[in-house]
Amino acid sequence: MAEVLVYVDHLDGAVRKPTLELLTLARRIGDPVAVALGAGAQDTAAALAEHGAVKVLTADAPEFADYLVVPKVDALQAAYDAVSPAAVLVPSSAEGKEIAARLAVRIGSGIITDATDLEAGEDGPVATQSAFAASFTTKSRVSHGTPVITVKPNSAPVEAAPAAGAVEALSVSFGEKSTGTKVVSRTPRESTGRPELTEAAIVVSGGRGVNGAENFHIIEALADSLGAAVGASRAAVDAGWYPHSNQVGQTGKSVSPQLYIANGISGAIQHRAGMQTSKTIVAVNKDAEAPIFDLVDYGIVGDLFQVVPQLTEEVTSRKG
Ligand SMILES: Cc1cc2nc3c(=O)[nH]c(=O)nc-3n(C[C@H](O)[C@H](O)[C@H](O)COP(=O)(O)OP(=O)(O)OC[C@H]3O[C@@H](n4cnc5c(N)ncnc54)[C@H](O)[C@@H]3O)c2cc1C
Repeated sequence: MAEVLVYVDHLDGAVRKPTLELLTLARRIGDPVAVALGAGAQDTAAALAEHGAVKVLTADAPEFADYLVVPKVDALQAAYDAVSPAAVLVPSSAEGKEIAARLAVRIGSGIITDATDLEAGEDGPVATQSAFAASFTTKSRVSHGTPVITVKPNSAPVEAAPAAGAVEALSVSFGEKSTGTKVVSRTPRESTGRPELTEAAIVVSGGRGVNGAENFHIIEALADSLGAAVGASRAAVDAGWYPHSNQVGQTGKSVSPQLYIANGISGAIQHRAGMQTSKTIVAVNKDAEAPIFDLVDYGIVGDLFQVVPQLTEEVTSRKG
């Protein structure tokens, strides 16, 4: 069976969920060969093998941490040269998309970004994408070169599929331009204890209807009862009620959780662009004519200040 390269997103050896989802999709196309880079790369092997990696190529070098993405592209290209894969899959993070795009240019391949599903096809993998602010669902395949495909988080289930996961050292030599942009300092983001917005299985968002920063604790309480991330509309962010890093939409983050709960959000096209691929959408809005109700699976017409605390209480009591 053909091999499929899977670029591993991990934090000091702890593999992030979107990578495990990629392994599920990679197994539909061929034998997954994982590429793990940086500190802790070797520690990823057990989790990757458990989820189907037949091989884990690892490399660590100061360049991966000290410079921006180019050294990682050098390493992924080295893996590509070593394996000659049927496809290269990369998580659809901002960094992942940059790495994938640079690799595609180098190897003269077509690229598909932000896929939400992937299946084997006669002429190569077929990717599902959501286009034009999610007004259309398209299926496409790369017609030139080895397909390079980035896949959105929450696009596939994580499945155990034990495989050999043989660890092999990847030999990487860095190109002349690898060290052009040095990282001079890092400021860790203050942790909220909540899941990362773009990876969360559940997102609870608030909009202008929340009516003030001081009321966002209502949204946070529902999120915490569900183990969810908190999102916000641009109106709420522009008003200074919630950080821009939590904005969902065209000029914010794109999310695709199993469950998206929109509270006091009208459903403008620019907001929909960032959440419409969510699997189940629930909205709470006091205006029965709000456009958000056109795309929901479940809609509650009501005042969020009454509905949301009741939801939180109900969820909490059911957790017992
Ligand atoms: C180029 C461009 C890019 C943009 N990018 C984004 C983006 O990334 N993300 C984004 O979100 N927007 C974006 N916007 C803005 C977008 O057009 C909307 O203005 C914005 O999404 C509106 O936010 P909202 O739904 O919170 O507010 P509103 O449209 O004002 O809606 C508030 C809703 O809350 C309801 N409500 C009020 N009080 C209550 C209550 N007590 N209980 C229940 N419901 C209540 C109202 O009925 C209403 O439907 C962009 C716009 C442009 C032009």
